[in-house]
Amino acid sequence: MTEQHTNVRVRFAPSPTGHLHIGGVRTALFNWLFARHTGGTYLVRVEDTDVQRSTDVFLASQLRSLAWFGLMPDAQQPIVYQMSRVQEHIKAANSLVAQERAYPCFCPPRDADEVIHELEQGHGSKYSGTCRDKAYTPEDLQKPHAIRYKLPKELSSVEFHDLVVGTVKTDRDQLDDFVIVRRDGTPVYNFCVVIDDLFMKITHVIRGQDHISNTPKQVLLYRALDAKEPLFAHISLILGPSGAKLSKRDAAVSVEEYRLEGYLADALANYLVRLGWSHGDQEIFTRDQLVSLFSLDAVGKKGGIFDSKKLQWLNGIYMRQKTADQLLTALQDVNNVYVADLAALWEPATLHQLIDEYKQRCVTLVELFKNVSGLAHDPELLDVHLIAKWRSATTLPMLEAFADGLDRFDGPCTHDTVQALAEQVCASVQASLVTLAQPLRLALTGSIASPSVFQLIAIIGIERAHRRIRRLITVLAP
Ligand code: GLU
Repeated sequence: MTEQHTNVRVRFAPSPTGHLHIGGVRTALFNWLFARHTGGTYLVRVEDTDVQRSTDVFLASQLRSLAWFGLMPDAQQPIVYQMSRVQEHIKAANSLVAQERAYPCFCPPRDADEVIHELEQGHGSKYSGTCRDKAYTPEDLQKPHAIRYKLPKELSSVEFHDLVVGTVKTDRDQLDDFVIVRRDGTPVYNFCVVIDDLFMKITHVIRGQDHISNTPKQVLLYRALDAKEPLFAHISLILGPSGAKLSKRDAAVSVEEYRLEGYLADALANYLVRLGWSHGDQEIFTRDQLVSLFSLDAVGKKGGIFDSKKLQWLNGIYMRQKTADQLLTALQDVNNVYVADLAALWEPATLHQLIDEYKQRCVTLVELFKNVSGLAHDPELLDVHLIAKWRSATTLPMLEAFADGLDRFDGPCTHDTVQALAEQVCASVQASLVTLAQPLRLALTGSIASPSVFQLIAIIGIERAHRRIRRLITVLAP
């Protein structure tokens, strides 16, 4: 832990204008990991000042997503709602005006034509400075006005060192006396962020690179407020296959969608952290490992390309590490109706066994649910084309002999005893085991991909298996 990383305070600052984006949750994770790694404090600030677009429904959804990942603020740290601090923002702006570090601007709002004209003249949309040095009376302040930050005369550029991106320098000609409070009295985003980060004593601002263009203005505001600016770390964005920011067209982008598709929070977190940060070639990390290994130095400058196949692979690995009970609890988080359905279809012991079998090959909880619930019903369709490759003159006699063998079964019905019966049947006609196993699979599940068919028979029981095999026999019979 280096010196600059003592008493760390970080925050995740979502705007509740939509469901939580996976890029957002990755930012939250980086903040949380950095706080945990440095023994610091992790806070959450809800940036709800965009009243047109912020809704309680989105706020609830975002908080639920954060809670799902274990990313709610640390104990004793209440969520800060930006909207509740507007008076503080205005007070701070007025105090900058009193110190002549900001000034009231009475210029009427420019209409779109004027802005277009200025842009076409190559003047950008920078403020001309009309009100900058104009005297005004207390009465003037009763008239509608904005408040503008006053760019210091001597300033030639502003520079800050970003912990991920490196030095970022912005020349004066790219800046102007920007508005900090609009004519309608609402403070602008860049100003609120600075005032609130100071209020929350934030030491490190870790956020997406889409905010880096705001940072020079924020640095200027810290200086105008005679405050020490925090350290900044702008993390890369998650990219789609084209190399542009991941969009809805490329993949699901909200955490909510991934939860409903049956991804485990830990697997998704592992995937998202690994997408912008590395520790050698290691792919799989427990939360504790991430906490102990995480450092901003190892956060990549370039965005990682989202790969849904890799996420599925990782989710499958996490699923295999869970017990049946843990998977049922996770499935409850997806939709409690799923768990109720399974409980109605299977005895608890059978359900656990089936989950343990299917988790070996499923990549999402929903896929697991579909397989395990589907197995409770006799397959509707037996598509015999699926077994064309393994079909021969011995198929029907083997199925008959196997079904008869099941009828005569005495003693325990286990994977091994069922397999022994299958081997005996195959040996009697000198056929390979697969030529019986695949038709059996089709009979039992309606597909030719499933866990061990012998294990399935042992789990679902002879009666069910027998009925399904007889049905295939009927379908195959000439
Ligand atoms: N509210 C901003 C967002 O949702 C984050 C601002 C910040 O982290 O400074 O993108």
